[in-house]
Amino acid sequence: MSNKKEKTAGELLAEKLLEKPEHAALRMTDEELAEADSFCEGYKDFITRCKTERLACAEAVKRAEAAGYKPFDRSVKLNAGDKVYLNNRDKSVILAVIGKRPIIEGVRLCAAHIDSPRIDLKQHPLYEDKEMALFKTHYYGGIKKYQWTTVPMALHGVVIRADGSKVDINIGEEPGEPQFCITDLLIHLATEQMQRTLAQGVKGEELNLLIGSRPFKDDKVSKKVKLNIMNILFEKYGITEHDFVSAELEIVPAYKGVDIGFDRSMVGGYGQDDRVCAYTELEAILQVKDPEHTCVAILTDKEETGSDGNTGLNSSYLPYFIDDLAGQQGVKGHNVLSNSLCLSADVNAAEDPTFSDVTETRNASKINYGVVITKYTGSRGKSGTSDASAEYVGRIRSMMDKGGVIWQTGELGKVDAGGGGTVAQYIANLDVDVIDVGVPVLSMHAPFEITSKIDTYMAYKAFKVFFED
Ligand code: MN
Ligand code: MN
Repeated sequence: MSNKKEKTAGELLAEKLLEKPEHAALRMTDEELAEADSFCEGYKDFITRCKTERLACAEAVKRAEAAGYKPFDRSVKLNAGDKVYLNNRDKSVILAVIGKRPIIEGVRLCAAHIDSPRIDLKQHPLYEDKEMALFKTHYYGGIKKYQWTTVPMALHGVVIRADGSKVDINIGEEPGEPQFCITDLLIHLATEQMQRTLAQGVKGEELNLLIGSRPFKDDKVSKKVKLNIMNILFEKYGITEHDFVSAELEIVPAYKGVDIGFDRSMVGGYGQDDRVCAYTELEAILQVKDPEHTCVAILTDKEETGSDGNTGLNSSYLPYFIDDLAGQQGVKGHNVLSNSLCLSADVNAAEDPTFSDVTETRNASKINYGVVITKYTGSRGKSGTSDASAEYVGRIRSMMDKGGVIWQTGELGKVDAGGGGTVAQYIANLDVDVIDVGVPVLSMHAPFEITSKIDTYMAYKAFKVFFED
């Protein structure tokens, strides 16, 4: 008589040798699942309130100050346990906690980006046509333009007036506030438009934002609707039409962060690439106390347009900061960087059952399979990427396993299906070991993106484990 429970040689061997991927919820206790869900309440609030790099930067500075961080002053000597932040032009921010070990042993860097695809105003945006007032725009980052029409929009940014004073504009998010919209052609008259390719369905110069339609009553003036809008803007913000030339005004979807699914297992909202990693990274560093290595969390700008510019990670603001920290301990910044480790905290494409032909299922990231470790991104034969070494991947996977982080690996789509990049390459080019770690996203770069609460929580755990290593 054989014992039915006894495993066969093949079963035992399979258990020992083969991977057995499984939905993360099946590997978590009910308490852990509840913790993940409650963690995402704060996350939904963050993506509802922080829809631009400036708003996310201000929120990070506020949270940092509340947690005892001081503005970085290179002339003030820092000691282990000290917490500082560097606000780079209100659009990117570095938070650091000084470690117990000498900085020459390297720092633990995490870098997420706080800019997201959106629609920017041009420098001469305001015009009237057919007695409607509109804004001309120039989109920011990679978007499918047709997705951004007929979506309720909010407006955020700053205007520098002729006298140099600055006014903040945030409108369209609060209950009762007006919103804006890019119109699209009705289907009844779209015979010709429907023949266009999807890429050309709505063209860049057709992304015009509707902002008003009532005239200023005065027979002596033309373009009465435009004048009426400018009058409202002058009364509310004290700006004239000419002030738009020195403004940064960004149009974003007015959606709130919400639960998705009957089971509330997912979060829907705008700008989750990459504020899902920004939020989790920020939460992680704010928890760090008396670390061994100096911990540095970067929330950067301009990733979506290639990281160029003085608030993007292709600029020198990060190595300058490291150089300043190194100088305080009498060592060179580049020696610190050479000994440093980095997680490039950015999202990956989650496999979509409706469009699964663009992913190769064995190597695609899946929602609810945990935080994604992405060895390389790029396109066309790994061009434009930093390909993390086997040694570094090995170090990170064992760090994650030890810390109880549920993780998976991911590749950004099938070979030659397309591709993309992150900030990883720019940090790797500073002689730092870097790997992409982040959350899988559905509908990435759309006005409304989807993530899983479990993956978001696991990203937070991953960054925390990394900082505490
Ligand atoms: Mn990203
Ligand atoms: Mn992106």
